[in-house]
Amino acid sequence: MKPGSSRRKRTQLTHAGRHPHDNHGVVNPPVYHASTILQPTLAQWEASRKPGWTGYRYGRWSTPTSNAFEEAVTEFYGAAGTVAVSSGKAAITNALLACVSPGQHLLVTDNAYGPTRRFSDAFLSRFGVEVTYFDPEIGAGIAGLFRPETVAVYTEAPGSHTFEISDIPAIATAAHRHGAVVLMDNTWASALYFDAFAHGVDIVVEAVTKYICGHSDVMMGVIAANETWAGPVREMAKLHGNGCGGDDLYLAQRGLRTLAVRMEQNGQNGLALASWLESRPEVSRVLHPGLPSHPGHALWKRDFTGSSGLFGFVLKPGYPRNALAAMLDGLELYGMGASWGGYESLILPLDPTSDRTATTWDEPGQLMRVHAGLEDIDDLIADLGAGLDRLSSATARTG
Ligand SMILES: *Cc1c(COP(=O)(O)O)cnc(C)c1O
Repeated sequence: MKPGSSRRKRTQLTHAGRHPHDNHGVVNPPVYHASTILQPTLAQWEASRKPGWTGYRYGRWSTPTSNAFEEAVTEFYGAAGTVAVSSGKAAITNALLACVSPGQHLLVTDNAYGPTRRFSDAFLSRFGVEVTYFDPEIGAGIAGLFRPETVAVYTEAPGSHTFEISDIPAIATAAHRHGAVVLMDNTWASALYFDAFAHGVDIVVEAVTKYICGHSDVMMGVIAANETWAGPVREMAKLHGNGCGGDDLYLAQRGLRTLAVRMEQNGQNGLALASWLESRPEVSRVLHPGLPSHPGHALWKRDFTGSSGLFGFVLKPGYPRNALAAMLDGLELYGMGASWGGYESLILPLDPTSDRTATTWDEPGQLMRVHAGLEDIDDLIADLGAGLDRLSSATARTG
């Protein structure tokens, strides 16, 4: 069987980017640790420096290990090409820099990952790119924001702090009518649960650090792009000196093999926690697009085929800080730390108010973000339930 887009995602995740019989039958691709790569003759040395050379020339450029991983991600995403870079953030910045030049205009969703926003404000604007933020729920209304110099639209769905779902096909249609390229941060759903290219996206970024790696021990990102953009994004990433170490590439590729079973469990646990939280008296709102109560639920059902383990909830207003500390400090199964997508559960208090300009975050209560790990759901509910009990009793004592 040829590697093919006709295979289903779970089959691709198992087989893509592996060629055992090129390597003594060993199931997994070998790890190449390489900086210097030798050419055997003067003629081959000269050929290896020319554009269009498809062999190896230097460790930063590519190795059999990076090729194997990029080949697997390309097939998984149904992309024309993929480049692996040193973090999810590097995927975002390189993808954007491949699309915009001084004097041009970029539209960015208002719920974008915070560091994306800071790159747009602190770096792109310094280099003469004007950035306008748009309401993630704008849909086809985005047509009104295009200017003659608008060249790109950057989306993310759901937002990884506030979980709004954007109508990606409507935004992409408007962008393409205007001749603008559509980028998307697809870290939440990965290609397993959202087929970005089928919904009109031209360039996808994903933080491999999260679900693809899946074990909280690798920083890496990918940019997967269509035929038009695969070349330019690779070139930009390489201009910036991006490359990844062989061991990290190996771990990322190994993570792909179990992505589907892990994400299924993360997703089930997340949805179970989210619907249980809806019944808790301390909670005013649960932000999970898989819940019928979520404003983006219909869009999520139309465009996504599942949910990952990351979601938010808002506490009722009025809980003092010491009660929040009593809740969080006593949790046994949920760690407090940035990142997500690993096998373990996490919880964080967040405040998105200062990360907004096109919309306002006006929930009066404390926003919390949960990553559901692979633990037993009954233990996860019991631990968080005990935490919410501590929140209430510490508040009663204070009050
Ligand atoms: C974590 C994250 C990134 C950045 O990935 P790093 O590997 O941490 O740089 C990008 N987008 C989203 C939505 C993320 O959660």
